[in-house]
Amino acid sequence: MSPDVRRARFRVEGIVQGVGFRPFVYGAARRLGLKGYVLNDSRGVEIVLEGSEDEILNFEKTLTGSPPPRARILKIQKSWEEPEGEKEFSIRESRSLDTTQALISPDIATCPDCLREMLTPGDYREGYPFINCTNCGPRFTITLRIPYDRKNTTMAPFEMCPVCKAQYYDPEDRRFHAQPNACRRCGPLPSLYKSDGTKIETGDPIGFLGKELLAGKSALIKGLGGFHLACDSTDTDAVIRLRSRKRREEKPFAIMAPDLERAESLCDLTDADRDLLTSFIRPVVIAPMKKDSGVSKEVAPGQNTLGIMLPYTPLHHLLMKKVNRPLVMTSGNFSDEPIIYRDDEAREQLAPAVDYLLLHNREIYARCDDSVARTFSDRPYVIRRSRGYAPDPLVLPWKSQKTVLACGGELKNAFCILKDDRAYISQHIGDLKNPETMDAFRHSLNHFKEIFRLSPEAVAYDLHPDYRSTRFALEETGDIPKIGVQHHHAHIVSVLAERGEEGPVIGVSADGTGYGEDGAIWGGEWMTADFKSYKRLLHLKYTPLLGGDRAAWEPWRMALAYLYPLSGELLVDLPLGCVSKITSDNWPVLLKMLKTGVSSPPTSSMGRLFDAVSALLGIRLESHYEAQAAMELEQAAEKITDRSYPFKITGDAFPLQVDPTPAIEAMLWEILKKKPVSEISGVFHNTVALMIKEGCARVREESGLDRVVLSGGVFQNMLLLGLAVRHLEDEGFKVLVHSQVPTNDGGISLGQAVIGAEKLKHAGF
Ligand code: ZN
Ligand code: ZN
Ligand code: FE
Repeated sequence: MSPDVRRARFRVEGIVQGVGFRPFVYGAARRLGLKGYVLNDSRGVEIVLEGSEDEILNFEKTLTGSPPPRARILKIQKSWEEPEGEKEFSIRESRSLDTTQALISPDIATCPDCLREMLTPGDYREGYPFINCTNCGPRFTITLRIPYDRKNTTMAPFEMCPVCKAQYYDPEDRRFHAQPNACRRCGPLPSLYKSDGTKIETGDPIGFLGKELLAGKSALIKGLGGFHLACDSTDTDAVIRLRSRKRREEKPFAIMAPDLERAESLCDLTDADRDLLTSFIRPVVIAPMKKDSGVSKEVAPGQNTLGIMLPYTPLHHLLMKKVNRPLVMTSGNFSDEPIIYRDDEAREQLAPAVDYLLLHNREIYARCDDSVARTFSDRPYVIRRSRGYAPDPLVLPWKSQKTVLACGGELKNAFCILKDDRAYISQHIGDLKNPETMDAFRHSLNHFKEIFRLSPEAVAYDLHPDYRSTRFALEETGDIPKIGVQHHHAHIVSVLAERGEEGPVIGVSADGTGYGEDGAIWGGEWMTADFKSYKRLLHLKYTPLLGGDRAAWEPWRMALAYLYPLSGELLVDLPLGCVSKITSDNWPVLLKMLKTGVSSPPTSSMGRLFDAVSALLGIRLESHYEAQAAMELEQAAEKITDRSYPFKITGDAFPLQVDPTPAIEAMLWEILKKKPVSEISGVFHNTVALMIKEGCARVREESGLDRVVLSGGVFQNMLLLGLAVRHLEDEGFKVLVHSQVPTNDGGISLGQAVIGAEKLKHAGF
């Protein structure tokens, strides 16, 4: 052995498994003439190199400078050792270690190389709908446990044919150690059924289905993390049929466009939208719909935006090539139930809703909905963080001393497990009121614990005693410390955590609901907050939630609650849709509730204020899905920045109250004078943005703070968000909003986990 030979050991952590990392290392080491080996273990990747010091350092430069496109290196440790005389460079068998930091990659959209092969006549995998390589394909959704090897995935039953095997073991090949590697001869295959279960004998099930979709038929299509319901989006009859069978009367459907060019013809896209649409995450991107898009109005009734995505599996690409028009591709589930992901469930529950079922024999292990995102200020603004994102952790700029499980909210649930500096946020789980969703929660929690070897030492939960997530935290997590976290505090800290910032800051939570520490329902809150605590300094003035929880689905109730203090019993004679819809026999009860507050708990909810105005303007008196009234109010608005309605800030001591009653009164007059709804809605949005700014100015006077965090479900309203940020920045505030984590309740588990960790620290645990 030459005396110049040195030996180095690299430990690499991050997303380094299932993303072509070992072939990359193999190639780089061989190019530099280095000997040694690379292997996956449950902490990440280990690389041992022998050669000259210069070449080893060159290798390190390549490793840090140009790793494989899908890899995400979080940490590299290097140590020098005594040379052992390695003869060659090899890839060694994976090794299982006890402690773990290995990360499973999210599922990755079909890469350009695989796409080209699939569409090349005569290619070995021409037309094969499950083509993949180390740079693309299923990952999280097929992985049962770590390390990420074929035997630990749902590809285990498929024995590779000699061709696939040769590629799998060839370090020069793009499929070297690609765990889901397969071909038509050895891998998963699609099959087509009629809704009654009879198999359709055809050599080209995808082509067959494509023709039927063009003829107005509908289908259930097995995808990556669950099933989609599909039909031709330009065929109004087909869309109406699907809608009625899905029992999803008005909620917008997502669309899959054949390619970016087609997507451009449907929606007005920004550069940031294009980047997001074509990223390997491939979320559904919500963007303004073009007037002449050709998409049926029934796809997104009452909306002027459309949720579009591009094909992200080879099967999608083949199908879209066949139909060459935008398809409805909506989650295969019933209203608020979790997306269906097993063949038997699909056959039993969804088959009657469609004409065809396109199945395949690769099992989905982890269900995972499509992610949904918008863009704001050229950055992603994720609404539903799921496929393509999960289970990728967020990396925080500090470490938690304990592993903390945070159970999240009740609606749009996602949990989070914080360990060291990693926050593992689950895929979107959904509305926990359904027992099926609660089962999905448990399944997913166990999956995360398994693939990341996490065992929570404490649990954080929402203060709402009736949330299923709260009950789970209190009843099913064993004897570990339990930390209650206020809902809106969690929203604010969630932004801080994902942006890598710390408090104290001014936090504004504009939200639908959230259990308040005084027993009221909070949701229009101005506070100072850091990781440990918060102080409520202003809130939207309490208004009765007329009839309790029903008010969220019947916005006319909130309109009456806001009108009553202005009109008293004259309310019954106001010439408004939200008044005239009420039959005379219902008035006595309603007036009694308004007068006495019976069955009407006080709320400071900003979401309910938007509901009230939507009903007041006659836009929506009853909602058929969450936040429908507020969404349609936003859609109706023109952007107005130079006019606003009056409002008051009252009170002698904190918390002060922000009273929108003068604005309601002004709107009432304008409605009676028949001002256009679009203008009134626009002025209202501007007014709320000014209320947010004015409240922050009061908090700044009191606290000296000038950084503002905006969170809560109401900030899904992009018009309001834009106006609020603009007014705040004009006033000299620095504003922080979400990007990778949802501003709705899908984001609160991150805040809960961080607050939980901080409180534990201070409690001396
Ligand atoms: Zn590929
Ligand atoms: Zn094969
Ligand atoms: Fe919330």
